[in-house]
Amino acid sequence: MGKISIGLRGWRFDEEEVFTEEGELRPLEELSEDTRKRLVRLQDIADSICDGCWLIHGDENPGECNPAEAVYGEPVSEVILCAEHEQDLIYWFREEGGDRYIGDEEFRDAFHEWFLDGGRAPEDYEGIEHVETDPDDLPEPPEIDDEARKERWETTDRKEMRDEELDLSQEYPGGDD
Ligand SMILES: [Zn+2]
Repeated sequence: MGKISIGLRGWRFDEEEVFTEEGELRPLEELSEDTRKRLVRLQDIADSICDGCWLIHGDENPGECNPAEAVYGEPVSEVILCAEHEQDLIYWFREEGGDRYIGDEEFRDAFHEWFLDGGRAPEDYEGIEHVETDPDDLPEPPEIDDEARKERWETTDRKEMRDEELDLSQEYPGGDD
């Protein structure tokens, strides 16, 4: 039974649960609650920018931010990352105690805090030996209409969450200059 990623690397789905033998996405009702949550969430985040880039550049230089390629953590408190900052997440997770936040809604905040504090993987850290999966090669998350989505999530807007966060992080000036 194969495991696959959809939209972004990181979250893994059971291929047989999500797709029919013909390769069609199964109706959401047929999926487990957890799978459904993740798929719905992926639709919101698959085209977003990397959290790490955003924490460095903020809304001032969106052109400097890389698109997200990977997702870690639980839906809504997930962290999404470009390939470069994915290494930082892996490092934090393995070497800086990030693993204690598995399944915890603090996951995202805890990583952001560490990152804003200057936390980074060492230059030569090889968290992921081969980043082979290009998200463009992954299946797209399903289209879910807004109504079905609203039923499931009260707030899904990352932009709002980020604005709040930006206020909190004003004591960290500049970022990379
Ligand atoms: Zn990044």
